[in-house]
Amino acid sequence: MNDSPRLPGHRFLHSPGPTRVPDEVLHAMSRQPMDLSDPRLDNCIAACEAGLRRLLQTSASDVYFYAANGHGAWEAVIANLVAPGQAVLVPGTGHFSESWAVQTEAMGGRVIRTPWVEGLPIDPAEIEAVLRADEAHEITAVFVVHTDTASGITNDLAALRAAIDRAGHPALFVVDVVASLAAAPFAMDALRADVALGASQKGLMVPPGLAFVAVNARGMDASRLNTTPRFYWDWQRRQSPLVYRKFCGTPPQSLVFALEASLGLIALEGIEAVFARHRRIADAVHAAVACWSEAGALSFFATVPSSRSVSVTTIAVGEGVDPEALRSIARERFQVAVAGGLGSLTGRAFRIGHLGDMNEAMILGCLAGIEAAMTVQGIPFGRGGVDRAISRLSQLSRLSPLAAGNRFMP
Ligand SMILES: *Cc1c(COP(=O)(O)O)cnc(C)c1O
Repeated sequence: MNDSPRLPGHRFLHSPGPTRVPDEVLHAMSRQPMDLSDPRLDNCIAACEAGLRRLLQTSASDVYFYAANGHGAWEAVIANLVAPGQAVLVPGTGHFSESWAVQTEAMGGRVIRTPWVEGLPIDPAEIEAVLRADEAHEITAVFVVHTDTASGITNDLAALRAAIDRAGHPALFVVDVVASLAAAPFAMDALRADVALGASQKGLMVPPGLAFVAVNARGMDASRLNTTPRFYWDWQRRQSPLVYRKFCGTPPQSLVFALEASLGLIALEGIEAVFARHRRIADAVHAAVACWSEAGALSFFATVPSSRSVSVTTIAVGEGVDPEALRSIARERFQVAVAGGLGSLTGRAFRIGHLGDMNEAMILGCLAGIEAAMTVQGIPFGRGGVDRAISRLSQLSRLSPLAAGNRFMP
């Protein structure tokens, strides 16, 4: 490990969360704490709520914050919506759907899973079949992971909504947008998603520690009817104009200042431009991975190209390739930190995070660092991935922030 007193330049962080924090956001965090009745704090929290609702494209939902990570947001959803013994459908998307399912079971819920087929997104027909078979309407909610950060697959939420509708089932539609928000479009109201949940450290470019849920009237009704004991997570208790009640205690102020700054950066760039940038950078990564795959040792984990996420790309490695060794060489010798395989993909894959505060130069540097590490390790890969990424980027026109406009922003 490089333990010299100073690392010249900077290390490229290509984990799909936590992601790099922009300087403007870091600076916002260096403010002193405020007393809890300072109107500046109220204004900051109001700006965070409004900004998140714009990003989630919802006017029908309220936002509640937690001093927590994504697992905390999962806990909030389960505590409010699922009484012990109640059933929830969790369609299999990989490591993250399974973790959410296990947490639901730990809290007493009964989980019905649809099987996860490696490399594929959720099949809407499977959801429809399970819901149709539930004639007694015992299933309270469908918990869907939009982008599974382990598999690098983004599910088609409109198709899943349509499947629930076709089954004529009243289950709540609950969506985890931890890895997709501010990278890929998500239109909560148009999808009639009843609850959405997220966390600060991925597309939102804020350090870990701030989680949130957005809940519409149906979601609030379900939580009101659920009398399971809870306090900190309870949505009913958090409906208050008082900051102290809204957060069930002191807000994590530095993180709230950070979120206000990051939502400001997103508004300044324009949300459409943010999405277009993520699309462009993901296309460049995909061009490189397609090239690397030609030598046979590496491949896209997501087999359906349209399901490949704009946030993270999961690359499966063949027998004899050690992705953990590759990661160490990339990080320690070439200053490029990528992520490993999770759950059943441990030791079988590595992942390139490309969401958040990211630009063309950074992704080209990342891809070159990985090529260098693969060269050191003697991994066979199709040469010229960086060149392919460059040609892809040079073909794609840049959507200027001015031309894109600030459609969802004031
Ligand atoms: C990261 C992530 C989580 C969990 O978030 P933590 O902050 O690590 O608890 C949940 N869902 C998805 C889709 C994620 O990417």
